Amino acid sequence: RKGTAVITGASSGLGLATAKALADTGKWHVVMACRNFLKAEKAAKSVGMSKEDYTVMHLDLASLESVKQFVDSFRRSERALDVLVCNAAVYQPTAKEPSFTAEGFELSVGTNHLGHFLLSRLLLDDLKKSDYPSKRMIIVGSITGNTNTLAGNVPPKANLGDLRGLASGLNGQNSSMIDGGEYDGAKAYKDSKVCNMLTMQELHRRYHEETGVTFASLYPGCIATTGLFREHIPLFRLLFPPFQKYITKGYVSEEEAGKRLAQVVSDPSLGKSGVYWSWNNNSSSFENQLSKEASDAEKAKKLWEVSEKLVGLA
Ligand code: NDP
Repeated sequence: RKGTAVITGASSGLGLATAKALADTGKWHVVMACRNFLKAEKAAKSVGMSKEDYTVMHLDLASLESVKQFVDSFRRSERALDVLVCNAAVYQPTAKEPSFTAEGFELSVGTNHLGHFLLSRLLLDDLKKSDYPSKRMIIVGSITGNTNTLAGNVPPKANLGDLRGLASGLNGQNSSMIDGGEYDGAKAYKDSKVCNMLTMQELHRRYHEETGVTFASLYPGCIATTGLFREHIPLFRLLFPPFQKYITKGYVSEEEAGKRLAQVVSDPSLGKSGVYWSWNNNSSSFENQLSKEASDAEKAKKLWEVSEKLVGLA
């Protein structure tokens, strides 16, 4: 049978390119888990995916209720879950004030981390049940959360501190930042990516042996053309792609990035669990090192426990 991959945020950018790359192999049915149904349908058509290769299902990660509803509707569809790709993200680098999810969490961490945290925990049961030979759960990471890299050292740097802001609800009353500091939209995004990478490793430690599921994260390269930068100032959006192309040489097209993530979904040689994948300039994959904070097992455990409370799992 075909494998079924659920991809969050498949209505644009990396998620869409990955959906297309998987559909093109003829071996995958892609469930596009998106907040905007119509946009997702149009996007699938625009890249030439054929109807039998995908299903659009509604998921708004900025609402835990919507996450639960998505899990229910997915189960009712009676498809097996073979691979889950947590890809969606918001980035608000120019926001002066925080905005909030339905449950009142700061939006970047609430969407990118807490929404995916609940989704991945609930769907782990479905992954367990699948008889697919290589079951995987992938959470898209980023270089920007990794302070052991050049890009990760551009201020404001990611830093979760002692998680006091998260523990006190991340709701703007006590703090809207995980470390309890002043709101900074760019930092909130980077922090959320560190959470994504820590969560992947904690899932690996807790569940890989018992379930056989492969847990992985990746940095697909700098995809400077995606919608992620939509809220940035116009000059940035103009100069960022050529800067990445010619100066840092970290630029990668959406199509190439989609192929990379599709490898992490289905390539037999990328089946190792607990790995953060990256690609070098000639597009070959390697197991990359994470920063000290993004590989801190104690912090991962604490993040797990605090997040469980916030999403109502504990
Ligand atoms: P895009 O903005 O193009 O795609 C983000 C996707 O997330 C969109 O489909 C968007 O939906 C969706 N999304 C946002 N909020 C929600 C929500 N509340 N519920 C459901 N879906 C939501 O950005 P990219 O493709 O660049 O980003 C994809 C991933 O790649 C992210 O995890 C990002 O951190 C990561 N990444 C990107 C890099 C880059 O250079 N671009 C580099 C490294 C990592 P909608 O279409 O409705 O807006």
